[in-house]
Amino acid sequence: MEIVRLHLARLGKFNDVPVHGFVIKHPRAGAILVDTGVGWPIELLKEWKVVNRHAADALAEHELSPADVKIVINSHLHFDHCGQNAIFKHAPFYIQRSELERARKHEKTTSEWFDFAGARFELLDGDAQIAEGVRVVATPGHTIGHQSVFVDTPDGAAVMIGDAAYTADIYRDADQADLSSWPGQHEDRGDWTRSLKKVQALQPHAVHFCHDTRVLAF
Ligand SMILES: [Zn+2]
Repeated sequence: MEIVRLHLARLGKFNDVPVHGFVIKHPRAGAILVDTGVGWPIELLKEWKVVNRHAADALAEHELSPADVKIVINSHLHFDHCGQNAIFKHAPFYIQRSELERARKHEKTTSEWFDFAGARFELLDGDAQIAEGVRVVATPGHTIGHQSVFVDTPDGAAVMIGDAAYTADIYRDADQADLSSWPGQHEDRGDWTRSLKKVQALQPHAVHFCHDTRVLAF
């Protein structure tokens, strides 16, 4: 299965990091999209110095359109991971139940990005298979309902880790990582460390990041 990285935005205020989404080109289920970038209320774009892009444009670079996306998985519901969910109204959204509960309480300014009328949620409680060779692994700690996505490839499993580690360095160093310039890496440090160790123990051969262009390969 091919994994395509989408360039959805840059966050100028946050170490000038990229915002990536990913498409898994599944031979039977169709395109599975992991995360949808930032949406469009203007104050938030200013506050975070966002250079934003339309997901449809990012998909078009890979000869895909929103209609090709049959399933959306949100790693979590921070503003830079679910902003354009409404472009994919036709698709179900696979989200951890605890994450939707958290976001409904704490993400009021962006609630219509993920909780719009007619949004079809497939709520998960922990690890789950989404399609053949595609599964989510619960990785709480960044947020309470964070999840990472594992995909079988000919070389072994690849993981789209979401924000369980912002960067390749943080992934490698885990609880020893210097997080001084990365506020918000963990809401719960204990859970976060356990989740990173859980991902590492699954021995992915490739790790894809939402906010780092590096791809770790083992
Ligand atoms: Zn986040």
